[in-house]
Parts: sequence; C-alpha cells; structure tokens
Amino acid sequence: MTAPMHDAFLTYLRDLFVDEDEHLQQIRLESIERGIPQIHVLPEEGYLLHFMLRMLNARHVVEIGVLAGYSTTWITRALPSDGRVIALERNPEHADMAREYFLKAGLSDRIELLVGDATELLPTISPRSPFDAVFIDADKDSYPLYLDWAVDNLRIGGMIFAHNALLGGRILDGPGHDGAAEGMRIFHRKIAADTRLLGNIITLGDGMTIALRIA
Ligand code: SAH
Ligand code: MG
Repeated sequence: MTAPMHDAFLTYLRDLFVDEDEHLQQIRLESIERGIPQIHVLPEEGYLLHFMLRMLNARHVVEIGVLAGYSTTWITRALPSDGRVIALERNPEHADMAREYFLKAGLSDRIELLVGDATELLPTISPRSPFDAVFIDADKDSYPLYLDWAVDNLRIGGMIFAHNALLGGRILDGPGHDGAAEGMRIFHRKIAADTRLLGNIITLGDGMTIALRIA
C-alpha cells in the first residue's frame, strides 16, 4: 500500500468505525496548546487497542508511557467497571495533564497513574500480576527490557501490545546508529525467539506489535 493510499484507508476506517468522542478530541487539542509532543496513538490505533482488549475480556492492564492520557482513555473504556489500568509515566507535566483528563472523563477510579521511570516502577507492581495485557509505548531502547517484564507478568492468553513497530519505516533500515530502531529490532527478535509467545505486527498507522502468551 502506498503512503497516500494508507492515509486514505485510515480516513475510511475512521469514518466507518472509530468513534472518537469529545474527551479524546480535547486531549489531542489541548496537548497541542500545552506544548506536549504530538506522539499519541492515532484514533485508529487507539480503537485497535480498545477492540483487542475487549476480545481478551481484559480487566487488568499495564500501560508504559502515558503522555497526556490519550491511549489510556481508549484502553480504560474497553474494561468492565471493576477493571483497572496501572499507567506509568516519567514526565510529571504529562502525568498532570493526563490526571486532569481522567477526572474529566470520569475514569479516575479505574486508572492508577504512577509517576516515575518505568524501569524502576515495573518491579514494584509485579506482586499484582498476572495482567491481561501490557501496552508498551515509551522509550524504544527499553522495549526489550519491558518485554522481559511483560512476558513474566502476563497470564497465559494475555497479550503484549507495542506502538511504533514500524518507526516510520526505520525498522527496515540496516543496522546503524539509530538506537530506537535497534531497540525495536531486538524487541521483535526476542518475541520471535520466545517459545512462550506468538508474535505479529499490525501495519496500521506506525505499526502495532502484538504478542500472545501461549505458554
Ligand atoms: N501512549 C501515549 C503516548 C506515549 S508517548 C498515547 O498514545 O497517548 C511516550 C511517553 O513515554 C512520554 O510521555 C514519555 O515521557 C514517557 N516515557 C519515556 N520514557 C519513559 C520511562 N522510562 N518511564 C516512564 N515513562 C517514559
Ligand atoms: Mg508511540
């Protein structure tokens, strides 16, 4: 699919299925005003997460990399009323905006937002495993590390989702000095080599890696 065709396809998909309400729109718009980087998932990617979490009957989800809470909102709405998201974010300004919007959208009681470095926070939440799903969308060079934690802390039948599988095409470049792309390639090879996981990549938007824990 050419790039213009992919864009047209995203619009087609959005018009058909993707119901982005005013809370979600507000997060996108206000994060521009606040100078927060525009690196949230696309509406179609948020909806994909939402869809897959419903397929899983997910109740306990971990998110690594919250930004202003756009993806967290899609995720939380896929859970039943007793479902919980543990959301990890290192940047306090991002976390502040996310917290405000969780409150506005009436989702605060289902989201536990922990502010700090995910590499330090993850071990502290291991006692609350097993989780149904882990969504990884933070620093790319730490993806292999997040994977190790996720596979150990998922239930069998649970899933890992990871954003930016394609890195705008850089995933297909040869080895070089691109730390993010190298981290993502190691992440993918580790999934492929792990007999507990079945891996795949959905080439929607910037790509979503998915891995199912089968053993
Ligand atoms: N998932 C969000 C976008 C996340 S952008 C969405 O789609 O709406 C990546 C976020 O990860 C940024 O807010 C950044 O501050 C955070 N981040 C980067 N490295 C991190 C780390 N080591 N621990 C916790 N958060 C981190
Ligand atoms: Mg991302």
